[in-house]
Amino acid sequence: MTASFPRAEVVIDLEALRHNVTLLAERAPGADLMAVVKADAYGHGALPVARAAIEAGATWLGTCSLSEALDLRHGGVTTRLLSWLDVPTADFAAGIEADVDLAASSVDELRRIADAAGQVGKQARVHLKIDTGLSRNGCPPAEWPALVEAAAAEPRVDVVAIWSHLACADEPGHPSVDAQAKRFSEAYDIARAAGLEPMRHIANSAAVLTRPDLHFDLVRTGIAMYGLNPVPQQENLRPVMSFRSTVALTKRLPAGESVSYGHTWTAERDTTLALVPVGYGDGVPRSLSGRMDVWLGGRRRPVAGRVCMDQLMVDCGADAPAVGEEVVLFGAGEAGAPTAREWADKLGTIDYEIVTSMYRPRVRRRYLGGPA
Ligand SMILES: *Cc1c(COP(=O)(O)O)cnc(C)c1O
Repeated sequence: MTASFPRAEVVIDLEALRHNVTLLAERAPGADLMAVVKADAYGHGALPVARAAIEAGATWLGTCSLSEALDLRHGGVTTRLLSWLDVPTADFAAGIEADVDLAASSVDELRRIADAAGQVGKQARVHLKIDTGLSRNGCPPAEWPALVEAAAAEPRVDVVAIWSHLACADEPGHPSVDAQAKRFSEAYDIARAAGLEPMRHIANSAAVLTRPDLHFDLVRTGIAMYGLNPVPQQENLRPVMSFRSTVALTKRLPAGESVSYGHTWTAERDTTLALVPVGYGDGVPRSLSGRMDVWLGGRRRPVAGRVCMDQLMVDCGADAPAVGEEVVLFGAGEAGAPTAREWADKLGTIDYEIVTSMYRPRVRRRYLGGPA
């Protein structure tokens, strides 16, 4: 136990990741699978996740920024790679040089990409994005015919795909999904009429699990690959990330003594406290003070008093955990242990945000089930 005595660590189970990728690929048998690894793979580490996803059958990778895409290329990843959202000053030429597919939402963006392709002396592979109703990036339907015509007439770009993103796929039956699908189909007809023969992609994780009619040529899976289920129905996904620490100190506390800043918690009986050396400096939200449990010694135990920057105290009652014993802050939830979803529900957010915020300099990352 002492040999691996982490102060705080995020453990990434690549075997679970591969299981999830396999499950998702089986659910979309006619489509290629893009592993979405933006934001450092939702906090799981872009390179190891990309490699494991490819081993399990992913044939595409997706990133938000060009710099994320280039980092993957510099890490030796040669898989097809789409980077979809950047600023006008981004180095598109470097992306084209490194075989990164780029997205365009406007004629203006298309021109910048084409100019970069001209500089490099190589066609740019472009995915034209239609805004079908999320109203974020993507080309509005009114401007779509002009974008499609400009792209069809531009020899410096190769239009690989048209694509879009769904607003409410995590609420199966939401009428916006069909409305977006209809606009997507209209956009496709316009592209075909302009002489293009693009692939189509619109499905995120939730649509992979609930809308086989929207799988088309390629699906873009993020959250479900990390084992977190975005839809109400039960799915056999395995959470990939767990957040762990160890007991650093234990002490007996007499009844009537109070614990941590503000003395918000007072022992009603003599008890044993376990000090766990993680706090909001390590990703434990202070706003979970007084309403979180940890998994320690085979059961859930409540955190006593405020979560501090560097430490929290666990009320262990009559039990006396050993110094060095493992503490799970959140994980796969076996036997009722806390999960990222439980944190998200308590905090009024989604589990995407919990795992993505776990990249902290003080928290060590450890990989299971594959090369680190
Ligand atoms: C993040 C993202 C995805 C993945 O969504 P999940 O809900 O995590 O599966 C797919 N497409 C785009 C454009 C995204 O930004």
